[in-house]
Amino acid sequence: MSRVLIVEDEAAIAELISLNLRHAGYEVTLAATADQAQSEVTRVLPDLVILDWMLPGQSGLSLAKRWRSEQRTRELPIIMLTARADETDKVAGLDAGADDYLAKPFSTNELMARIRAVLRRKAPEALDSAVEVGRLRLDPATRRVSVGEQEIKVGPTEFRLLHFLMTHPERVHSRAQLLDRVWGDHVFIEERTVDVHVKRLREALSPAKCAQMIETVRGAGYRLTQQVQAVSAG
Ligand code: CA
Repeated sequence: MSRVLIVEDEAAIAELISLNLRHAGYEVTLAATADQAQSEVTRVLPDLVILDWMLPGQSGLSLAKRWRSEQRTRELPIIMLTARADETDKVAGLDAGADDYLAKPFSTNELMARIRAVLRRKAPEALDSAVEVGRLRLDPATRRVSVGEQEIKVGPTEFRLLHFLMTHPERVHSRAQLLDRVWGDHVFIEERTVDVHVKRLREALSPAKCAQMIETVRGAGYRLTQQVQAVSAG
């Protein structure tokens, strides 16, 4: 389930967006100020933030700039909301690091479409499209993992971990990054938790001879790679 943080001080708007998102299956957290938003993000890294420009105290714009300047939040998908459909505002919003920009009033259908577009581009593991890497296939809609006709049984955490790795293949992810992106928390959960679940995932993939797709990169983390054919069929 995708986690969306809504940062909006106008309660009626926040509630309207929240209702629509929950109805669509997103897990929603609300924040009314930049400070609250920052502590939410520190606690659990969301998959996407809907960020109002005009907030009491620190503005949404400066919060977006701060997040872009920090390693942990650099890739955080942000959709900025503003009261004015002003071209200069739009440019400033995108310059500050927003991935998209929406002027109020907007239709909830448009917001939902923008959310899906931003997630598809930046956090495909937050969507429920099926994904394939090599012979391995994972379908979030049916929660099934398979290799050809063979079904692979994995636990819920291994499923989320595999989903993240499969939507970001061939890249090395540190344990801290995996904790943030898969668990949503790198502060209170120990890094060796990742090792435990990687081990379980490899065990689950082993009968289908796919365990070696998950590589340990020494001193760096883990990477999912297309399976190399170890044995020639001759
Ligand atoms: Ca506002």
